[in-house]
Amino acid sequence: MTRSRDHAGDMRWGWTCPRCGTDVSVGRDSETETFWWKCTEDGCLAVGFGFASRRRARIAVRDYRERYQRIYR
Ligand SMILES: [Zn+2]
Repeated sequence: MTRSRDHAGDMRWGWTCPRCGTDVSVGRDSETETFWWKCTEDGCLAVGFGFASRRRARIAVRDYRERYQRIYR
């Protein structure tokens, strides 16, 4: 069990990987000024980028989950 205060702000929105349920990281690319999210699990390829806001990145995680579950079934 590890605690990360750095991610506390993100946790309230339920940032979990659509594929494996691991916490995802979210951040901002200073070059393109867009937000990204990615799974922190080694070997998991779930990732998204190019979002205009943190909120849109979160919505994208949710959409990814819906799409993934549709394919998986
Ligand atoms: Zn994952």
